[in-house]
Amino acid sequence: MEFYEEIREKLIEWGASFVGFSNVGANLSNDLKELQYAVTIGVSLSNFIVEQISDKPTFTYFHHYRTVNSLIDTIILKGQLLIQERGYQVFGVPASQTVNNAQDKYSGVFSHKIAAVKAGLGWMGKSGLFISSKYGPRVRLGTILTDLKIPYSNVVNLSSCGECRKCVENCPAMAIRGNDWSEDCSRSSIVDAKACSDYMNQKFKHIGRGSVCGICISSCPSPRNMNNER
Ligand code: SF4
Ligand code: SF4
Repeated sequence: MEFYEEIREKLIEWGASFVGFSNVGANLSNDLKELQYAVTIGVSLSNFIVEQISDKPTFTYFHHYRTVNSLIDTIILKGQLLIQERGYQVFGVPASQTVNNAQDKYSGVFSHKIAAVKAGLGWMGKSGLFISSKYGPRVRLGTILTDLKIPYSNVVNLSSCGECRKCVENCPAMAIRGNDWSEDCSRSSIVDAKACSDYMNQKFKHIGRGSVCGICISSCPSPRNMNNER
């Protein structure tokens, strides 16, 4: 078995719902440039828990969100060690960590979504969320960057939102602009990250420490009911 196939098998065994490979050399900061191959790990969220979200997140959703992030971080750590043991460089990007840098205080060190889209695992919605082909936006993501040469296709799927605007209409912060995502668009043309963050901080501090909402996830019909809803 090829090593990359062994990696996929192990990550699934450790709890990943899906795994994909891509080359993200064009999307890396200079300090990560040598690690151009990305392994995406996705874990699906509980449909039942997501569907309990109405106009605010639930305490259970906040706990679930953190538990899934923790599982992803554990899978990343184990994957990192597996790849490093074979003599390759690795950098695990945490499931949920913002680095609060001067350019963009709402971003992490690397966008999991870019790697997931390039791996052909789904597409980007008007909400700015990664929409998994199988699970819709009800997923959390992690990434392992490495210099191990992994086969990739980098086929970027176009948005399948069509005429749907459910996330735009349901966002209480009016943070979702309603534009279709493309590879070269800016994040600010899709989502007002500050408006989203400020709203969560003001309204949901008592539920999810102001760091979760979930309304755009729960209101998205993808991938279920897409054909019925349009
Ligand atoms: S997380 Fe909530 S506030 Fe932020 S974009 Fe989604 S629906 Fe709007
Ligand atoms: S709610 Fe509709 S417009 Fe928003 S991401 Fe989902 S499919 Fe796209």
